[in-house]
Amino acid sequence: MKALVWHGKEDIRCDTVTDPEIQDPRDAIVKVTSCAICGSDLHLFHNFIPGMLPGDIMGHETMGEVVEVGSGVNGKLKKGDRIVVPFTIICGECDQCRRGNFSVCETTNRKRHLADKVFGHTTAGLFGYTHLTGGYPGGQAEYLRVPFANATHIKVPAGIPDEQLLFLSDIFPTGWQAAVQCDIEPTDTVAIWGCGPVGQMAIRSAILLGANQVIAIDCLPERLSMAEAGGATTIDFETESVVERLQELTDGKGPEKCIDCVGMESHVMPSLPDTLLDRAKQMVMAESDRPHVLREMIYVCRPGGIISVAGVYSGLSDMLPMGAFMNKGLTMRTGQTHVNRWTDDLLRRIEEGEIDPSFVITHTVPLSEGPEMYQVFRDKRDSCVKVVLKP
Ligand SMILES: [Zn+2]
Ligand SMILES: [Zn+2]
Repeated sequence: MKALVWHGKEDIRCDTVTDPEIQDPRDAIVKVTSCAICGSDLHLFHNFIPGMLPGDIMGHETMGEVVEVGSGVNGKLKKGDRIVVPFTIICGECDQCRRGNFSVCETTNRKRHLADKVFGHTTAGLFGYTHLTGGYPGGQAEYLRVPFANATHIKVPAGIPDEQLLFLSDIFPTGWQAAVQCDIEPTDTVAIWGCGPVGQMAIRSAILLGANQVIAIDCLPERLSMAEAGGATTIDFETESVVERLQELTDGKGPEKCIDCVGMESHVMPSLPDTLLDRAKQMVMAESDRPHVLREMIYVCRPGGIISVAGVYSGLSDMLPMGAFMNKGLTMRTGQTHVNRWTDDLLRRIEEGEIDPSFVITHTVPLSEGPEMYQVFRDKRDSCVKVVLKP
């Protein structure tokens, strides 16, 4: 089959690889009908997250048709079922899964000794996302093996196009969880850093959850206008002071809730000296992440407020203002997405027409054009916000 394969830094190719097979009774094989490139795939493209090996198959936003089912899937799936594959591999049985904390499932990371060492405890296995999270082949491919398939799936109805359902795999529940974690009240201003695909979903989610005002921060015109179309007031951080504008828009009080949809590769520019220092430290591996957004959120957030982190961080962040964080009584909530915790609610909202997540798609191309699209997406060329690939 064809698949997008990681060969090294900024080197992803569409290769012919061996078709996946059932390896465990709880496996299923899916024929992929649509998959997408995620912002967090770019961290792998840039080789900022350790644990990728040449030959690894990329991708964790996938949907398709079940073509083979292992004997241990116990009737939960059958041939012909149409499913979205959540990016988190879940067993559905461990202590964390029973609590709905699916992204920290205790059993699905088959290389848990690595994660135990790096993070103190293992987290769930993830598709196409480094050997720290299991080294599982991803779904930017013609076929995908789904381990623990009796739990790891989202069944979706016929009659709704792939484009509306595909993002249940990651970015829609990720933006949703980021907003839910803010405990939004009707008087709240929610400020969202980063208007990439997850930021766009967080904006829509904060509005659906009843925020009084949503403010979106980015520097790309096409992403800012998409945010505006979704109901946000926008700030272009290249031409305006984020802190000053947020103060203005909140009568000097600061936003009650702040959401980070940027993560470890924060924009670097000379007018923000901390970003230059971070970049330099990252290059000599003295720091793994560039946490400019975290610093800014802690500074501007209203005392007693909540900071919700959806952006991906990998390791160590320097110069976080703990003094402000502690003295202002802020709360920080984080986490990879507990995808299946939100699935029933979000699928219902799509079915009822409350939201159509396909608004974010700007490019749909064949899988073979994937390697080029990684560059287009990375460089934000051609107003690229979200890429869907068709195997
Ligand atoms: Zn993702
Ligand atoms: Zn589990």
